[in-house]
Amino acid sequence: MQLVDIGANLTHESFRHDFDAVLERARTHGVEQLVVTGASAQGTRDALALALAHPRLLYATAGVHPHHASDFDAETESLLRGHHARPEVVAVGETGLDYHRNFSPREAQLFAFERQLQLAVECGKPLFLHQRDAHMDLLACMDNVRGRIGAAVVHCFTGEKDELFDYLDRDFHIGITGWICDERRGAHLRELVKSIPADRLMLETDAPYLLPRTVEPMPSHRRNEPMYLAHICAEVARDRGEDVAVTAANATATARRFFGLTD
Ligand SMILES: [Zn+2]
Repeated sequence: MQLVDIGANLTHESFRHDFDAVLERARTHGVEQLVVTGASAQGTRDALALALAHPRLLYATAGVHPHHASDFDAETESLLRGHHARPEVVAVGETGLDYHRNFSPREAQLFAFERQLQLAVECGKPLFLHQRDAHMDLLACMDNVRGRIGAAVVHCFTGEKDELFDYLDRDFHIGITGWICDERRGAHLRELVKSIPADRLMLETDAPYLLPRTVEPMPSHRRNEPMYLAHICAEVARDRGEDVAVTAANATATARRFFGLTD
C-alpha cells in the first residue's frame, strides 16, 4: 500500500526531537510521500527547507493561514511568489478563511486570501484551502477567479452535505482527515465520503493535530503523526465500502496528479 499525506504540519515544534523517527514510522506504514504545510512566512521557509532536505519524499506548500492573515504584507507576498516558482513547492496555501475563531479580523483574512488567489493565478499551481464557518465568502472569492486558477483542494473537510456538493460542483478536490474518526463531531462524514468521486478524494493527517480517536492503542502523547494515515485510509475505505487497497491506490494517484509528484 502506498499513501500520500497531503497535509502534514511537520514544521511543528513537537516533531523537532524525533523527526527522522516520525518519517521512518510513516514509511513503514506505507506513507511514501508527504506534503508539508506552509501556513505562515516562517512556516513556509521551514517547509521548503524540509522539502529540500528530503527530495522526492517531502514537498511543501507556501502560504499564509487565515489565522496569520494580519501578518500578510508586501514582503510576505514576494516571499511566497519566490517560493511558488520552486519545483519543491507544489501548492499555494494553506490559505482561506476561518470565521470560527477570527484570530485575524475578517477584513485581513479576505485581503490575504484574495492576494494569494492572485498568486495562484500567476503561478498556476494548485490551491490548498482552509475553510471554517466561512463557506459562502470562500465560494465568492473562488468564483471571482474561476477559470483562471488551477486545481483546488478543500483540506480537512468537516462540513455538511450542501457544502460538499458546492465544492464538487466546482470540481474542487476534498481532503479527509482523522476528523472522520471523531464520533462526536465527524460522524456525518462517514456517509458523505461515499459521495466523493475517487478522483477528487485525498487523505491527510493534519499532524500533529487531529489524532484519530479510533487509533489503537491510543498513544499517551496524543500527538498525531503521518503513520496514522494508514488508519484513516482504512476507515474511509470501510465507509465507502471499498477494499482498502483500492481507496489507497485511488487517493495516491489523485494526490500525485493533483500536486504533480513524481513517484
Ligand atoms: Zn487548515
